Amino acid sequence: MAEHRNPAVITVPGDSAPLLAGELSREGLRVSDGAPYPFGAVHMERGADGSTVSFTLPETVPDGQGEEAEGHVPADSAARFEAVRAAWQSALGARTVLLAEPRSFCAGVDRAIEVVEEALEQRPHPVYVRKQIVHNTHVVRDLAARGAVFVDELDEVPAGATVVFSAHGVAPAVRTAAELGGLHVLDATCPLVTKVHAEVRRYARRGDRVFLIGHEGHEESEGTLGEAPDRTTLVQSVEEVAALPDLDEGATASYALQTTLAVDEAEDVVLALQDRYPGIQGPGSDDICYATTNRQASARAVADSSDLVLVVGSRNSSNSVRLVEVAERAGARARLVEDVGEVRLTDLCGADTIGLTAGASAAPALVDEIVRALRGLGSVSTSVRRVAQETVTFSLPKELSR
Ligand code: SF4
Repeated sequence: MAEHRNPAVITVPGDSAPLLAGELSREGLRVSDGAPYPFGAVHMERGADGSTVSFTLPETVPDGQGEEAEGHVPADSAARFEAVRAAWQSALGARTVLLAEPRSFCAGVDRAIEVVEEALEQRPHPVYVRKQIVHNTHVVRDLAARGAVFVDELDEVPAGATVVFSAHGVAPAVRTAAELGGLHVLDATCPLVTKVHAEVRRYARRGDRVFLIGHEGHEESEGTLGEAPDRTTLVQSVEEVAALPDLDEGATASYALQTTLAVDEAEDVVLALQDRYPGIQGPGSDDICYATTNRQASARAVADSSDLVLVVGSRNSSNSVRLVEVAERAGARARLVEDVGEVRLTDLCGADTIGLTAGASAAPALVDEIVRALRGLGSVSTSVRRVAQETVTFSLPKELSR
């Protein structure tokens, strides 16, 4: 083992510390914010008044040793540390941040989170939640820390317990299984998803062949398909429509949509279905909910004038991923980030105007943290691009109303 010429130190404004910590981690360096520090870890220490944070590479780190041999401490730690310092330097500068509005939580997500919070207050513990209540890592982690137990399937829930169904909805078979299992169900399905389920039931009852435009494997589509599995076909693209079989003689067809699709892409699939099956009935693109539509419009509005668009959201969040695609189709460079720790310094380099938005399942505070972190790199002027005013709210299930 050899010694580096360290200690090497990078000191940054306190609010920007997650930017640097994230970059160091991605470089393969372990960052630790409290003694005892693991061997080889970068020490993260807050200044006395909390306004700065220093990152210090320890003086003794293995040199010429493999990562495996030394507990995942890279042999070239000093070089990696210096690369991060250089990235930080090149990201410094004044910026404009264009805040897309509306962004972040929608009425369905607000309600779903509140259902779990109220269940934790009003029902005996443990309170179980089937699947992620909404597709966001931070929301799930926070509710789990407060006592919610997340499960994949109902066979993990003991008889007599309370279980919450997620905002994405469930197939009727899941409701039946809950009843048979003696579970107390609280349904956090977004009312706008419930509306699509009702459409599919109506179409199927009248004997239509039903086409659901959606994403394979997404919980919402799986739940909706379950309303009439024998009569419903999932279609994801114009290409898939072209490969669909002819209808039986005299048969009728209709379609419904997942609520979080990209409006422009979904319209293309609707047009293809109308072309393939003249007379097919459906809601146009109206199943795509107000929150998805508004967030896509506001993402487009900031993308037009941004060098980079940051979309806050989890990778399994359909509407967040769609926002990235919408911004890219508008010509911007766009990145999906879980939180400030995933913002790449290299992406910020040369990005004088940054569009900032968040999917419907990402908390507003995550956006605020990014703005504060950017201020550590230089002055930031913010400007809001609002495309709609949202006033939608949903009431809690009657079993929980105060
Ligand atoms: S994105 Fe739309 S459908 Fe999904 S929870 Fe929010 S309002 Fe409901």
